[in-house]
Amino acid sequence: MLYFSSSQMSRSLQKPLTAICFVLSVFMMSSSALQAHNTLADNSLSQNSLTNHVAIAVHGGAGTIKRENLSSQQEQAYRLAMQEAAQIGYDLLKAGKAGEVAVVEAIKYLELSPLFNAGIGAVYTFEGDHELDASIMHGGTLQAGAVAGVKHIKSPIEAARLVMNESVHVMLTGEGAEIFAFEHGLEKTSNDVFNTKRRFDALQEAKARIAKDEVAFYRDPKAQDYKFGTVGVVVLDDQGNLVAGTSTGGMTAKRYGRVGDSPIIGAGTYADNRSCAVSATGHGEFFIRYNVAADVCARMKYQNISLVQASDTVINKVLKNAGGEGGIIAIDNKGNISMPFNTLGMYRASIDASGKVYVGIYADE
Ligand code: ASP
Repeated sequence: MLYFSSSQMSRSLQKPLTAICFVLSVFMMSSSALQAHNTLADNSLSQNSLTNHVAIAVHGGAGTIKRENLSSQQEQAYRLAMQEAAQIGYDLLKAGKAGEVAVVEAIKYLELSPLFNAGIGAVYTFEGDHELDASIMHGGTLQAGAVAGVKHIKSPIEAARLVMNESVHVMLTGEGAEIFAFEHGLEKTSNDVFNTKRRFDALQEAKARIAKDEVAFYRDPKAQDYKFGTVGVVVLDDQGNLVAGTSTGGMTAKRYGRVGDSPIIGAGTYADNRSCAVSATGHGEFFIRYNVAADVCARMKYQNISLVQASDTVINKVLKNAGGEGGIIAIDNKGNISMPFNTLGMYRASIDASGKVYVGIYADE
């Protein structure tokens, strides 16, 4: 049976002429194309299965990223890493791999880079170790997986994918997540592998600020000049599926057991083939309360507005008015990409459906 979402139908019915053309064009499809459409549609909520277009966007965190604070070598390193991650995912998509493979491989590359606050290079907790969070969601099946507060898994995004594909749950935390991941073949690693001097220094700086005004430090990122560094990837694969994934060390000096938005489906990560896929970065407490990733998709779906309108409203109006700092990368089922942020910068890159590469850091590029 052909699958039409109710929103697609009602939109068409609002305009009878469009509806007639739509129905006619469906019947004019060749039988093999129709068969392919049926197979995919039966297995997922795919609406883009005949286009064969692929596209990807990646981020490496948003925050107080100023030109004067980055040397040209550092800037170059960030740009290269963003571009490389996008290319890794794009090449996999072009080779016909599933969206979740592209998302996981691109994120794994970033988790291994000390530049980012995910995997190696993760920030320190107040107690001086690392607690990592990650999640992934498939927009065709609406399956999702997440891990939170893991300390001994080198690639949290791999663990999140295992939760999605091999468990009956959506989110596992702490020791339970680790036991599950090791049982499914992931290697146990020491928490020290995530150590970097840069993040250690950031913890000392944070502790000095906390000693002065603890509430301001945790509640008002502006006053404390927060820098983020979470990584995320969103893709449209050649089956028309949207997939989103996010991985992070959280926020510097976070308290024991604190979980941010990144592993929370709806807050930091969301994907639904009927609207869009989103990965967020920023002050997690705000992203959780404003359910940011799912809100962007819901606005597209229920208000019938574009990806750019929906994502811009959530980041630059709703979140900004609330005082929440950060940004998102988002992609829709046509391969349109939007990457709004309300901070000074966001490390980001994309390769669109025509193969055009974009890399940016600051707001004016
Ligand atoms: N959103 C992450 C968190 O709150 C931090 C980040 O994006 O840098 O844990």
